[in-house]
Amino acid sequence: MDNIFSETIIERAFWNGIKQVNADREHPITELRWRASSAGKCDILQLLSAYGYEADPITPDDAFKFEMGNIGEDLFMSAIGHGLGDGLVLQQQYNVVSPDLKVGGHVDAVLLDGDKIHSALEVKTLNSFFTARVEKSVETAYFYGQLQTYMHLLDLETITLIIIERNTPKLITFEVPIDYAYLMDAICIWNDLNKWYEEGYIPFPNEVGGEVKCQYCKYKSICGGNNTKIIALREKHGEIPALDLGAGN
Ligand code: SF4
Repeated sequence: MDNIFSETIIERAFWNGIKQVNADREHPITELRWRASSAGKCDILQLLSAYGYEADPITPDDAFKFEMGNIGEDLFMSAIGHGLGDGLVLQQQYNVVSPDLKVGGHVDAVLLDGDKIHSALEVKTLNSFFTARVEKSVETAYFYGQLQTYMHLLDLETITLIIIERNTPKLITFEVPIDYAYLMDAICIWNDLNKWYEEGYIPFPNEVGGEVKCQYCKYKSICGGNNTKIIALREKHGEIPALDLGAGN
């Protein structure tokens, strides 16, 4: 039996299949413009997503990491559900919305005490490098805005962050407190985003709040943080008022 040939078939099938598994997975739908999970990210990214622009296809490597993370999170939720006993009830994918700000999302889970929320849980699967960074300073985590948004929308003062550190593996839990200063800025950003969305506007990178990480962005091919590409997007978008490109563009 030709092992190399067999492995090649299996590997090819796996990497083709993993993309399909990811594409077939049901994603929670929010009808609101802004996703809590994108809070703190580049404003342009959020606008392109809200306008319905197609993102770059996910790589097989990223799809694999995502699915492995889901397996760990499913295991965690299943264990918690079995281990809670009587009393508190685990409710997964708990819907949160702010119709005023037009932001919404789904917290991984809440623990319900009757009809009252006892606590909210957000689970992340990270490698040991990112886990160490988050343990040192949760404010630098890419999901800090998401956690703050959930607390704001749930009217909670803390949220329980669970990190599944996949290298060891180990489980780390800690309480993240609400950050009112961060949320004041975030509310200003959502107000700007709503204004831009209603005008059909796409800003340049030097106009935006939020973290601009073009190298890892799902709109790298159509935007890339490149002003020429953004002008082309504006022309294609078609609803953009006449632009003053100004200095520095
Ligand atoms: S490519 Fe850069 S500027 Fe464009 S949406 Fe992504 S992060 Fe923002």
